[in-house]
Amino acid sequence: MELHGVGVGRGIAIGPILRMPDPLPEPVAGPHAGDPAAEYARVDKSLAVVAEELAAKGAKAGGEAQAVLEAASMMAQDPTLTDDVKARIESGTSGERAVFEAFASFQEQLTAMGGYLAERASDLADVSQRIIAHLRGVPAPGVPTSDAPFILVAPDLAPADTALLELDKVLALITRDGGPTSHTAILARSKSIVAIVGVTGALDLTDGTVVIADAATGVIATDPTPAAIAAAEARIAGRAAATKAPITDGVLADGTTIPLLANLGAPKDAEAAVALGAEGVGLLRTEFLFLDSPTAPTVAEQARQYIDLLQHFPGKKVVVRALDAGADKPLSFLNDAHEENPALGMRGLRALRANQQILADQLQALVIAQAATTADLWVMAPMVSDAEETTWFVDYGKKLGLKTVGVMAEVPSLAVVADQVAEVSDFVSIGTNDLTQYTLAADRMLGSVASYQDPWHPAVLRLVKMLGDAGAAAGKPVGVCGEAAADPKLAVVLVGLGCTTLSMAPAALADVRAELRTVTLKEAQARASRALAATTAAGARDSGSS
Ligand code: PEP
Ligand code: MG
Repeated sequence: MELHGVGVGRGIAIGPILRMPDPLPEPVAGPHAGDPAAEYARVDKSLAVVAEELAAKGAKAGGEAQAVLEAASMMAQDPTLTDDVKARIESGTSGERAVFEAFASFQEQLTAMGGYLAERASDLADVSQRIIAHLRGVPAPGVPTSDAPFILVAPDLAPADTALLELDKVLALITRDGGPTSHTAILARSKSIVAIVGVTGALDLTDGTVVIADAATGVIATDPTPAAIAAAEARIAGRAAATKAPITDGVLADGTTIPLLANLGAPKDAEAAVALGAEGVGLLRTEFLFLDSPTAPTVAEQARQYIDLLQHFPGKKVVVRALDAGADKPLSFLNDAHEENPALGMRGLRALRANQQILADQLQALVIAQAATTADLWVMAPMVSDAEETTWFVDYGKKLGLKTVGVMAEVPSLAVVADQVAEVSDFVSIGTNDLTQYTLAADRMLGSVASYQDPWHPAVLRLVKMLGDAGAAAGKPVGVCGEAAADPKLAVVLVGLGCTTLSMAPAALADVRAELRTVTLKEAQARASRALAATTAAGARDSGSS
């Protein structure tokens, strides 16, 4: 049997399935056996065991995961909560139900407070589930653990789940939800985990079934034949060899240079990117630095982080994106309003213009970092719609002292007026994730429309060509920093459409570097023409891949 989804990257894995346990059913409202002290003692033990487990997991995980897990561990022992649980048991409610009700009530209060506290509310639900699982003697929800390597199957993964993945054990991720640019997929790519997302029927796979998960084709083959296993093992060995190939700068077979840059979420990722041959940074997602922040970061705090990053790239290009708040990356200090369609709402540059002091502080911090290091700092705005917004941002940044200021092409309207934009911007960086989402009107977070979220679609490629042509006519660089640049075959087509740099998760650099070496610019342009003439994404992929 085969299941189909959207592959992330080019990897392939073989292994047995292990499913994320289903969430526990809500405990029925009912009384306990009659002795409140005994019932509370039972619950108290579970609270202590769960708190200890979470803290131990945190200590093992280290880094950001440790902070998340220690906070969760403290929740399990919070006196406000434990007193409430006790009071409910004393009034006759069963232990499981008392835990459920007390945590749910606290969760509601936090949600009502909004901002950072509201974001922590979902962690409470997770802690509550763990305690109830312990009381019932069943496995805790969340990422399962196993001594042997496995392929994890889940509806989707929460950020806390992904932080906990044991990379030596998880051979691949298969999720029912999510598209190729959902942040689960981005995270999988950044950690070099083989992943297939948006897989209908994924949750019907049973524990222990051996599958081959092929991200290059998006196919999951269950109970594979020995021949199929041997072929997959050969590919795994081949990829391991490719990642050991010498690291060179990005170059085509005819010597045309195509700098290969890294997409980063934090300065701490810089060292690994340099080790994988990143020639600079094509996208720093600054909002990732402040997702948990209840208030806007200060100039000094930001300057420290930016200097830290830039110091890893002396003399090299580093493109930093202004805060891109909205939709799947909410920043409560930039836009806290409820919106029916946040992807079409007050996000990106729109939110920054409405909160100009936050933008001014960020750009000021970048000016400080620019002066303090020798990196070649470029700054760009996200979610820009037209030449007027471009002019506004470029002028604003330059007035504050930035040297190179540009915009991201993510909204189709910007590509339609690419010639006007190229006149006023120092550079354009194409965010193919959002450009595809908006061109195809397909929510990048929604598994059911993941098949529309395909940057090979000729409509997306035509917009890229408009941007490439406009850049060439105005003598301005046009890069790509969306996930499309990490698909080696598509990377070649993007170059053929006029893109001059490619930026991607560092884990993808080796594959893209190897593919670029196989074609001349003329051949890349020929592939691009064939892809542009196709009528479907699949057709473009077929005709533009060789
Ligand atoms: C994009 O939209 O392609 C992009 C690079 O930005 P993000 O994925 O952070 O929205
Ligand atoms: Mg984007």
